[in-house]
Amino acid sequence: MTRTGQEATEVVSGVEKQSAVRVWHFLDAGAMKKEILFIDDNYGQCGNCKQLGINFVTTPRCPACSTTFRYLAAKAGQDPVKILRRIAAEGLKLQLIERSDFEKAESRDKLSGFFTDPA
Ligand SMILES: [Zn+2]
Repeated sequence: MTRTGQEATEVVSGVEKQSAVRVWHFLDAGAMKKEILFIDDNYGQCGNCKQLGINFVTTPRCPACSTTFRYLAAKAGQDPVKILRRIAAEGLKLQLIERSDFEKAESRDKLSGFFTDPA
């Protein structure tokens, strides 16, 4: 078996030896936006109300709008494996998503709304 790139980077979490693998899902970008925390390092912005400075490790709910975060979208260039390790180590109920996938889905939704909804 050959291991290449980040997809197969080994992660050692406690006594378990696991690998980071990207999983694909169909998700509703509009609904996701309300439960996303966009992070840059450990701090991020609520996708629902745009509140800034939220620590993803210590703050499971937005202090401003009370949204419970389900998704974490890292900034391009952040190491997803490092974030996954932190999520696992802290036992957080967060799903790490690929930010560019979300942005693509969101612009696609906006575009389709533009063509089907003249209002
Ligand atoms: Zn919020």
